[in-house]
Amino acid sequence: MRLFPISRRTPWIHLQRMVNVRDESLLVLNLFGPDRPGILAALAEVLQHHDIELADLQQVSFQKNIGLHLLLKFGAAGQSKDSAVKDLLFLGHQLNLTANFQPLPPDKIQGIDHRKRLVLISFGDTRAVAGLSEVLAQEDAEIETISSNRHHGARSFEMILNIDGVSRVERLKSRLMGKSRELNTDLAVQNMAAYRKNKRMICFDMDSTLVDMEGIDEMARKAGVHREVARITDKAMRGEYDFEESLRQRVAMLRGLTLNEVMEIRDQMTLSQGIEELLTTLKWLGFKLGIVSGGFDIFTESLKERFRLDFAYANRLEIKDGALTGRLSGDIIDAAQKARILNQVACDNGIPLDQVVAVGDGANDSLMLTQAGLGIAYNAKKGLDRVADAALSKARFNHVFHLLGITEEDIREAMTCQAL
Ligand SMILES: [Mg+2]
Repeated sequence: MRLFPISRRTPWIHLQRMVNVRDESLLVLNLFGPDRPGILAALAEVLQHHDIELADLQQVSFQKNIGLHLLLKFGAAGQSKDSAVKDLLFLGHQLNLTANFQPLPPDKIQGIDHRKRLVLISFGDTRAVAGLSEVLAQEDAEIETISSNRHHGARSFEMILNIDGVSRVERLKSRLMGKSRELNTDLAVQNMAAYRKNKRMICFDMDSTLVDMEGIDEMARKAGVHREVARITDKAMRGEYDFEESLRQRVAMLRGLTLNEVMEIRDQMTLSQGIEELLTTLKWLGFKLGIVSGGFDIFTESLKERFRLDFAYANRLEIKDGALTGRLSGDIIDAAQKARILNQVACDNGIPLDQVVAVGDGANDSLMLTQAGLGIAYNAKKGLDRVADAALSKARFNHVFHLLGITEEDIREAMTCQAL
């Protein structure tokens, strides 16, 4: 691609010859220099005067410097491009900006197609930028814009990626997740279309996500059958049992555990770091909030009440004479059921799936995460981040705020209101 550097000291008459604007109906005008108020207004006035269409525009302001890129379309026959270019260059000179023109053949124009854009947010440092941009280059993803943000005292980088030239988007996402995991940083890679939609509903898994424990393990410990239950869990993880069969077998071993003992566990359960602040703020901001858990109702109900959640779905432990019978009542909530519930709740509330967030840590969250517009794998077992849009490490729930565009002021206000 030809580039014609134009400094404000270059006589415009030479530039015109270099640019050869007579042959081109489309020109990219790039302007760089110190920022000041009114630059775009002054440019727009010249464009309007010459009846030039502004086909596309990108502006970046950085530390009192400006970078402006304008795609100009010269339409009507006989329209004086020479005089328009002359006026634009003169204006650039007056504004103390360096300018260059770049002819653009119509077939090279990149449309703004959100389906071909990804938004990448990395909660990492320069090392993450280096590692991720290397993967992007290898996979032919083009970085359109990159900017950095600071929130909660941490730094993040946001990139808008054009993936028009990427042959396998899933491989790109999976390689980015892998690189981020290798660097021990958090990462989100979302489709632009879903990213731009405000999120309105969030479904959380409970065990090892909202709370820092696995309810069934704690109950097994209390019932003195921890080793036996762990053995079944291992077999299920190796694929020797399906989820329902393994769950029923483990619950059967809890027979006789008293309701009081279960309540003790419930009262001692620790929330994951940052959850209280997160749920309080989301509730205050008007999100539909709830739990979809493959764990047990006694625990989810207490969280629902405590945080005034809108919904809570979990497996129901059958209780008779103040003790567990070792049976479950109602439908079993497994991976497929979790995804079904997420869909149902979203439909009932008139919320499109693009505006739904799902957060979970386990294999049985994978379908739910895939369904949601933003699927977040939290401190997840390896593999879940392959289907997720974001992967967050343990104790980094505050990154959810940033992914949802929630500011520190929002959080402060929510916490203040909560305390009133
Ligand atoms: Mg879990």
